[in-house]
Amino acid sequence: MRNRYSLFSLVRNGLSHNEKWGRAWHSPEPKREYDVVIVGAGGHGLATAYYLAKIHGIRNIAVVEKGWLGGGNTARNTTIVRSNYLWDESAQLYEKAMQLWEGLSRDLNYNVMFSQRGVMNLAHTLQEVRDTQRRINANLYNGVDGEWLSREQIRQQVPLINLDSRYPVLGASFQRRGGVARHDAVAWGFARAADQLGVDIIQNCPVTHIRKKDGAIEGVDTGKGFIRAKKVAVVAAGHSSVIADMAGIRLPLESHPLQALVSEPVKPAINTVIMSNAVHAYISQSDKGDLVIGAGIDQYTGYGQRGSFQSIEHTLQAIVEMFPSLSRVRMNRQWGGIVDICPDACPIISKTAIKGLYFNCGWGTGGFKATPGSGWVFAHTIANDEPHPLNAPFSIDRFYTGHLIDEHGAAAVAH
Ligand SMILES: Cc1cc2nc3c(=O)[nH]c(=O)nc-3n(C[C@H](O)[C@H](O)[C@H](O)COP(=O)(O)OP(=O)(O)OC[C@H]3O[C@@H](n4cnc5c(N)ncnc54)[C@H](O)[C@@H]3O)c2cc1C
Repeated sequence: MRNRYSLFSLVRNGLSHNEKWGRAWHSPEPKREYDVVIVGAGGHGLATAYYLAKIHGIRNIAVVEKGWLGGGNTARNTTIVRSNYLWDESAQLYEKAMQLWEGLSRDLNYNVMFSQRGVMNLAHTLQEVRDTQRRINANLYNGVDGEWLSREQIRQQVPLINLDSRYPVLGASFQRRGGVARHDAVAWGFARAADQLGVDIIQNCPVTHIRKKDGAIEGVDTGKGFIRAKKVAVVAAGHSSVIADMAGIRLPLESHPLQALVSEPVKPAINTVIMSNAVHAYISQSDKGDLVIGAGIDQYTGYGQRGSFQSIEHTLQAIVEMFPSLSRVRMNRQWGGIVDICPDACPIISKTAIKGLYFNCGWGTGGFKATPGSGWVFAHTIANDEPHPLNAPFSIDRFYTGHLIDEHGAAAVAH
């Protein structure tokens, strides 16, 4: 492998003043034709390319990105990783992703800074206690780790929390294998590994139209001309329905802004991820010390990558209620991304009625955690023109058959 990262290469490049590191990936011009064109170089698109090349041996692939790779929601999320979803279908899909996360840095030869510091979901009412305990039991049946924490156990883990605020805390679920990863590194790691397997990553190249003929895909029109493709796989998050429209397809998706913010760096204060569905707020601390805080979606639809003030204000009110000692911490930055939300809060990973056209979307507020698993099952679906058993329940057909997988209880704000 070109430029393999290791202690040896670190020392060798250090001796040459770090001037001889090769580029992590190329920036090629598009070829006229590919076996597979992937639209969107976010984490999911890049992971799809990587697994297509690595597992299925398909290497004539282009990933076409309208901006820069990893600049969409991959760069904007709060990096929470967990697999404790309620229903069997989702628990198994996210657990596959979790297992891939656990070996990802080694597999990609790139440190994605996956830190299994645990994810805590607070329960504020008796009904939430019952729902949360039910979810833990369902998780255990699916081989997903989970446990119930009493108020005393929460206090020990998070001494800063005020359990008796306007939002009294009665207990929490805790997934110890959950945690966070470095979002940029995930995109860069998949990009580098895919590039080394021969994948072309083409940035600053928007897809403007999808060409089809006799019910089959022909290729995509882009800012750099027409690219012919046997298969086109769309992984464009908040812009999925825009691209579906180019192919004459309507997807059951709504695009909403979702916001997050970070504080100035402070000394280590919070050593896990704490989330509250009821008050729509969650917090963790990055390795460099910023408090990373996330809100719920703005209720209106739109494509502006910013959110409304009241949503952030509400979140900070809730955070300060639960963590009064943070009231004087200054916030550094706030931003928004556009999330693609399905009616059942579950993704669509599917073939379409157009031969050779595939969609992977609808991850809404919580797709970062699925990145490796999503790419893994989508690659299988594209290579075999059939879904893997793990993603078969997430096909578009469920909106015709009514087999919805309602994960609002486990997804909602809880990414
Ligand atoms: C504020 C916020 C916080 C979040 N927090 C979490 C969290 O803590 N945990 C979690 O699991 N998930 C979280 N999410 C959700 C998560 O970020 C997404 O589900 C996930 O990153 C989607 O990855 P992706 O690769 O599909 O999308 P993206 O990274 O958005 O990639 C899609 C790419 O498609 C490109 N594209 C769009 N249109 C075109 C076109 N016409 N031509 C070419 N390219 C195009 C875009 O430029 C973009 O780069 C959060 C999201 C936001 C916004």
